[in-house]
Amino acid sequence: MTQEMKKEVISVEGKAVKFGGTSLCDAIQMKKAAEIVRADPKRRVIVVSAPGKRTAKDEKMTDLLIRADKTSSETEREALFSVIQNRFDEMIHALRLPLDFGMEYKTMRNLRGDALISRGEYFSARIFSVLLGITFLDAAGCIFFRADGTLDEAKTRAVLSEKLSRAERAVIPGFYGSMPSGDIRLFSRGGSDITGAIVADAMDADIYENFTDVSGFLLADPNAVACPRTVPVVSYRELRYLSAMGARVLHADSILPLRKKQIPVVIRNTNDPHGAHTWVVSRKEKGIGGIVGAVGYTMISLERAHVGDDGEAVCALLSVLSSHGFSPVLLSHEPDTLNVLIRYCDYEKADKIAVAIQQELDAEIVTVRGGLAEIAIAGEGFTGEMRASVWRALEKASVRPLFAASVTESFSLVIGVSESELSSALHAIYDALIAYI
Ligand code: ASP
Repeated sequence: MTQEMKKEVISVEGKAVKFGGTSLCDAIQMKKAAEIVRADPKRRVIVVSAPGKRTAKDEKMTDLLIRADKTSSETEREALFSVIQNRFDEMIHALRLPLDFGMEYKTMRNLRGDALISRGEYFSARIFSVLLGITFLDAAGCIFFRADGTLDEAKTRAVLSEKLSRAERAVIPGFYGSMPSGDIRLFSRGGSDITGAIVADAMDADIYENFTDVSGFLLADPNAVACPRTVPVVSYRELRYLSAMGARVLHADSILPLRKKQIPVVIRNTNDPHGAHTWVVSRKEKGIGGIVGAVGYTMISLERAHVGDDGEAVCALLSVLSSHGFSPVLLSHEPDTLNVLIRYCDYEKADKIAVAIQQELDAEIVTVRGGLAEIAIAGEGFTGEMRASVWRALEKASVRPLFAASVTESFSLVIGVSESELSSALHAIYDALIAYI
């Protein structure tokens, strides 16, 4: 390496930072986010989401773009483009930035699919980089997918770390990358978290800071329990489990690259950056990570003599489910019964599955029970005492658990209740476990 080249390469250590949609939903929020970045010189690489909702009734930029892509009405598409452009122009104007996206808006109007939907993050990052006066790096040039749609980790890491090593600070749009053909491809919804994790990995970040609109990871969903407490420390395992069960603070797939490299994550609130927050780390000795409740489950039970000991019957049951597009969330057996819990199944589909099961497995009785809710609790130190207090609390609240399962005895517990009892059950469990976080 020549002396000149050496000078150009900047050490890439520092923090990877990601701001969610509500943290960048308008000029006021953008200013707050910019203050946060400026307050710490270690906040070197910033990943951004598209602007989120400004009020409860507002629409997320990504949802507007999805609607513009889907509509078959030219008039509606035009109207949506006006709303989209106005939102970005309002921010530019309020922030007094020397930016004019006129030409790029014209190009946007010819886009379709992922390329169009990605423009929320693209324009958000352009605005934020100018506000901060730092380099803009387009994700299309540094996040790469293979032809089969999976992330090309090696290429992404090589190109991204090389590009980051040449920028003192940079802003990168989240949520998308490019295919070998050059076409834009999106991650799944909430995927800017994944971009943030990929960036943290490529720059060997000391910390991945994830700024959102809640004060860290909450013991329960604030829509279910009023003002739930922040869990100060959760493990990667707890967070991955709870995200997969429906907790919405971080995208479940963002945790894998972080866990591999053991990069600690801190989840903070943009509106209260020094307030309560959560550390996500590899080791946690004791306590509860969180409680998640979700509705929309259906239990299908079949009865036939000895079916519980019949391996072939289990395989046949799984294949009936998979041919209808379902995989089991829980499978349990008794000598003459097999029970399977599935998610998001309407009555009509459940009936069709029941008929298929009856035929394929020669079942004597098939019962379908919909309207079920599932509560998942996870904690690295989920002791017998904590379990006992959960059961006592449910009894005291007169909630009747319909099923329960615990795969890893000292880590997780799943409890099924009827949807109408979910709220009482969540409150009871929250009160029982609050002392253990
Ligand atoms: N804007 C995308 C979404 O709404 C991605 C993200 O915010 O992470 O899902």
